[in-house]
Amino acid sequence: MNSSFVDVAIVGGGPAGSATALSLRAHAPSLSVVLIEASDFDACRIGETLPPPVRTILEHLQVWKDFCALGSREVFGTTSVWGQPVPFDNDFIFMPANTGWHVERASFDRMLAIAAQARGTNLLRRTSLSEFHWVDEQWRLKLSTGATFSARFLVDATGGKAAIARRLGARFENLDRLVGIARFFENDENDPRLLVEAFEHGWWYTAGLPGGKRIVSCVTDADLAHSLQLNKPEEWQRRLAATPLVNSLLRECKPSGSIVVRSATSRRLEPAANERWLAVGDAASRFDPLSSQGIFKALRSGIFASYAIGDWLTRSDDSGLRRYCHYVAKEFESYCETRAKYYSQEQRWPTSEFWLRRRVRNAA
Ligand SMILES: Cc1cc2nc3c(=O)[nH]c(=O)nc-3n(C[C@H](O)[C@H](O)[C@H](O)COP(=O)(O)OP(=O)(O)OC[C@H]3O[C@@H](n4cnc5c(N)ncnc54)[C@H](O)[C@@H]3O)c2cc1C
Repeated sequence: MNSSFVDVAIVGGGPAGSATALSLRAHAPSLSVVLIEASDFDACRIGETLPPPVRTILEHLQVWKDFCALGSREVFGTTSVWGQPVPFDNDFIFMPANTGWHVERASFDRMLAIAAQARGTNLLRRTSLSEFHWVDEQWRLKLSTGATFSARFLVDATGGKAAIARRLGARFENLDRLVGIARFFENDENDPRLLVEAFEHGWWYTAGLPGGKRIVSCVTDADLAHSLQLNKPEEWQRRLAATPLVNSLLRECKPSGSIVVRSATSRRLEPAANERWLAVGDAASRFDPLSSQGIFKALRSGIFASYAIGDWLTRSDDSGLRRYCHYVAKEFESYCETRAKYYSQEQRWPTSEFWLRRRVRNAA
């Protein structure tokens, strides 16, 4: 870092952090922005399905051409085996925008961060925030590289752990203990569409990825995953073999790499913002991967956050920050209703702990 002062420091260069930076540079170009990302976008990332409406957001962020250059896999629908053993197709042709995409996540996230850099954001890769304190009406920040600087406003875009906001006293309201236990496969030539298949202890999904890759994931509660020993490849594979549809897509595919476990707990942060900091994307709220909304929501929250931050820092107008908190809460409320309706459609395993937990919550 050359400069010792910046208006906005964004910690986390996932979709939410990069969208915040991109939109800030467009909406409030007088503000200087630094984007601090721990990785170099070189390790595998989970979360790949982009629903058709994402195109509008990518166009708004002016990254549509960069996105097209990634060569993501086009998809024209989803299939679910949910509530009944017969597959149900949801074809995008009946939607206003009728193409979705499956992306290679590390490339997608890197593309967004580099686009933000090209618009004037100071992108710091392989760097994390080590210390931060509010002193004399500004943030004093220390990076893992040893560099120090000051900032007027801090954005927590660190994903589901909300590392900054939680240290500042914000708390999560958790709905469940969901985890995704995923593995990548190679040599895929099947229809790449997202396939979701419920089973006694949760649900499986698979999606075709660019470069003939495929992801397969088992989604269940953390304690159930532990008792079912789903982190053991042989046990994961044995359960997978019992899924009629997901397994049928893997005949010619070979597993590549080890099993990856990721938290997918539905949760909301309270508060999501105040006059010194704001949380975006999964740091502000996280949705069940069943929704395939996480990336879309992360990008959209980055845009809304940039309006609130811009108005606050350039015009001392804090109404956007209050509207942002209200928006995060309302969005989560509406998500909870949809989630409850969707899980209540599956009644085939009345004594299963996983499905019972969803029914009890839904009835409450
Ligand atoms: C199993 C599973 C499947 C999913 N499938 C889908 C799907 O199909 N479609 C979909 O839309 N969503 C899906 N999601 C959700 C989606 O991945 C997330 O909603 C999305 O990644 C949120 O983006 P984000 O930018 O908020 O956080 P993240 O993508 O988690 O980005 C956070 C960034 O912050 C960086 N970081 C963290 N801590 C620090 C630090 N201290 N300093 C600097 N940098 C830091 C990380 O390296 C990372 O780059 C899935 C999630 C799971 C668990």
